Amino acid sequence: MRVKALETLLTEKGLVDPAALDAIIDIYQNQVGPQNGALVVAKAWADPVFKARLLADATEVVAELGFYGRQGEHITVVENTLERHNVIVCTLCSCYPWPLLGIPPGWYKSDAYRARVVREPRAVLAEFGVVLPEGQAVRVWDSTAEMRYLVLPMRPEGTEGMSVEELAALVTRDAMVGTGLATVPQ
Ligand code: FE
Repeated sequence: MRVKALETLLTEKGLVDPAALDAIIDIYQNQVGPQNGALVVAKAWADPVFKARLLADATEVVAELGFYGRQGEHITVVENTLERHNVIVCTLCSCYPWPLLGIPPGWYKSDAYRARVVREPRAVLAEFGVVLPEGQAVRVWDSTAEMRYLVLPMRPEGTEGMSVEELAALVTRDAMVGTGLATVPQ
């Protein structure tokens, strides 16, 4: 209601064009989404040189693929390993790498997720169905307007010889936030 009221006021004063707003919303609802991030992850799994570059300077590397723009000005990719699992949050609001994942889901913006994932990450992950081995550390990354994160999940076993397209189909949105794991092929 507040957003609608604000939009009406700004439109009446001639400060925003509703058609421009609709175009922006269409881009982030229909054209930009987790399929972008999934392609980046699949390419990193398939190509060690790409992966090394991605971990060193994600913003530049994903921009080369055409993934840049609002809320994607500064992106860091953090790699899951047997030793460490990474999870992303924005404790202050809802910062999220839009060009790679689209619009954040409701739970990402919720007070409960933002507060609890910092205090008890393993309990929150378990509620998402992710139970980590005790020996695997959990690192929580707090996003800001200056830096947004994407998790590079571990490549599942049994995926040798898969194409980038086949690999990308295994990469879920939650796997790239850290609240999920990549899908194991059946
Ligand atoms: Fe934020």
